[in-house]
Amino acid sequence: MVSLELALPSPLLELRDARLGGVRLLLKRDDLIGQDISGNKWRKLGLLLDDAHVSGASALLTFGGAYSNHLRAVAAAGHRFGFNTIGVVRGEERPFNDSLARAVAWGMHLHYISRATYRRKADADVLAELRDRLGPAYIIPEGGSTPFAVAGCAETVSEIEVPFDLICCPVGTGGTLAGLAAGLAPGQRARGFSVLRGADSLDADVARLQVAALGRVLDNWTIDHRFHYGGFARTTAELDGFAADFAVRHGIDLDRIYVAKMLCGIYALIASGEIAPGTTVVAVITGAPWPAPAGRTT
Ligand SMILES: *Cc1c(COP(=O)(O)O)cnc(C)c1O
Repeated sequence: MVSLELALPSPLLELRDARLGGVRLLLKRDDLIGQDISGNKWRKLGLLLDDAHVSGASALLTFGGAYSNHLRAVAAAGHRFGFNTIGVVRGEERPFNDSLARAVAWGMHLHYISRATYRRKADADVLAELRDRLGPAYIIPEGGSTPFAVAGCAETVSEIEVPFDLICCPVGTGGTLAGLAAGLAPGQRARGFSVLRGADSLDADVARLQVAALGRVLDNWTIDHRFHYGGFARTTAELDGFAADFAVRHGIDLDRIYVAKMLCGIYALIASGEIAPGTTVVAVITGAPWPAPAGRTT
């Protein structure tokens, strides 16, 4: 089993690329924090695990799809910090793959529910039934987006010692964006790149998380809904070409589901002038590809 030693603070690396014109682009390599528990998944879980511990919980219960990075992260964190873990997986056909196998290898117990029930997973009756069947557990919402995640993701910003104007991240559930925005100084802005098609409700989700964590909605962030490349876990020739070219020129294999979409979007905004020359941009590399490409050691 791989080590769970965490490398914090994560490195900040400046990208040298003629296509950036007069824009300075820095990569905040949260993908290098660790292996299974890494990237924004670690940022979102760290403080929550303290809370679970203080509350006396012995088990963590959370939710995810068959390829969920979050399920693997919770499984790895439970193994490391001494919690039993239960993963409630969407799909009554009982999907199983390498990602879920890795979660099971970390000790996670999988419980499958139908897509219809999964849609209602935050409802009190569904949660009560899960507790009846699976025993008492500390419940972590899908994607781990809680007020603890907001505080944890703000820490990414506090590690950046270089002045910058704009910080960017991909958006799945919005917890990372909510937290990055919370960590900014006056005058700095955050832009999230939604990886879902037409997910307009994400703006309200980010606002709700900020109200829960900070008591108010900040006005220093936006979500760009134009760079989903077909929707969640979909891709296009443009996106694949961008990621392949990026790997050759910069030696970094990008996660296609989230990170490549953000970076492809940033390059498009630079090309169109929406991100103006003279701007310093930090792109948060929120995680590594799964499974790790052959030869990758981190
Ligand atoms: C889960 C995940 C995201 C989405 O983060 P949210 O806080 O849910 O918006 C982004 N990037 C990577 C690599 C992820 O694994």
